[in-house]
Amino acid sequence: MEQGHGARQQEQARERAGAARIEAARLTVEGIRAVALTWVDVAGLTRVKAVPTARLPQVAAHGVGMSPVFDVYLVDDSVTSSPHIGGPDGDLRLIPDLERLTVLHAQPGWAWAPVDRFEQSGQPYTACQRQFARRMAERAAGHGIELRMGFETEWMVDPPLAGPAYGMARVVERSEYVADVFGALAAQGVEVLQIHPEYTPGQFEVSVAPSDPVGAADLAVLVRETIRAVSLRHGLAAWFGPVIDPDGVGNGGHLHLSLWQGGRNLCRGGEGPFDMSATSEAFLAGILDALPALLAIGAPSPASYLRLAPSRWAGAFQCWGLENREAALRFIAGPPGAEDAANAEVKCFDPAANPYLVTGAVIAAGLAGIDAGLRLPEPVSGDPVHLHGQRRLPSSLPEALGHFTGSAVLREALGDPLFEAVTAVRQAETKLFDGLTPREIAEATRGRY
Ligand code: GLU
Ligand code: MG
Repeated sequence: MEQGHGARQQEQARERAGAARIEAARLTVEGIRAVALTWVDVAGLTRVKAVPTARLPQVAAHGVGMSPVFDVYLVDDSVTSSPHIGGPDGDLRLIPDLERLTVLHAQPGWAWAPVDRFEQSGQPYTACQRQFARRMAERAAGHGIELRMGFETEWMVDPPLAGPAYGMARVVERSEYVADVFGALAAQGVEVLQIHPEYTPGQFEVSVAPSDPVGAADLAVLVRETIRAVSLRHGLAAWFGPVIDPDGVGNGGHLHLSLWQGGRNLCRGGEGPFDMSATSEAFLAGILDALPALLAIGAPSPASYLRLAPSRWAGAFQCWGLENREAALRFIAGPPGAEDAANAEVKCFDPAANPYLVTGAVIAAGLAGIDAGLRLPEPVSGDPVHLHGQRRLPSSLPEALGHFTGSAVLREALGDPLFEAVTAVRQAETKLFDGLTPREIAEATRGRY
């Protein structure tokens, strides 16, 4: 039994090496000298090991080593510990997903691939965030549901621009820059839906076509690092922190999602509110119900709560509504004739979040909604801040963490090691920023993600 398992692992390693040899040869011909292998830690920072292109076959077979301690790293690179993860011992193997191998247009000589993390024994690492997202997508498939997801990316360039919010002037001011962002993403095979200047001076947003949950999280990483690289080539810094100036509108990391079954969008053509199916309604009700706990995943930094304020389109209230940009959950029905575009947007999340943890945790919450047969409450129209009895989402990280630690659904889905690492990192970052002014927190975080 054991031996059969070991033999299968070796066979899979050989297959990966074979595929990587072909990729490495192709990349070498294209002048690609190095491959950046990334994963995202619990604090929301993308960590990397870079390998020479020629080593890709060995790395695809056996991985490259990295300590598990990075799962308890904080946003400032200090380190905490947790019951299962922490300390100097141990090593993991990072194995690139060659399906996602991408030549980086704004970093000449470089390619990129996301990794899954394994134990040295070849067993999947229980706290691997990417495999968590995949497990949850498979769990949804077990319910007969396929999810399509897409993250919006908002960022601020420094120095900022003079043009107005959503203003053409800002695009004219930086027209080569914006065109290069389009160009780099297109060259990398990323299907961009749109780019626009956002509210705050120097702020932009890009949205990309939906994909499967793991793919959506991979894309969030690729899009961000591409924007960072294009920005630097234009002499700009790109800031992805949730808050830039505590008195202004921050960066969101909204998640769009739709449920599909046999090629049919379950967000339409049903008997539920705004014609969604009962399955969609229960799934969205599960998300809505779990939002206070989900914030510990989707709004993971003390800085997140400086952004998550009413009347800033950040979704600070635990309600939902049709095209309501102040509701934490916005339902989008799609224009007549394009009903397949119907989807829901979770607005209260921000770019400090680990996108793999976000997609996985949202699926877990949605499936719990289906299992419990939940229904959505009445939709809300108008700004909930002016409506009586609307429930505010947690207004601090400790408050969100209190909901998270009480969530049996998220504990079971994440598994104890990852659940405890999330808890420990959130507690440690709360302590890290304790006593700092909002401005100091903004300055300490905005350029880190
Ligand atoms: N920047 C806003 C936020 O913090 C979102 C604006 C929008 O709706 O795109 O989430
Ligand atoms: Mg936006």
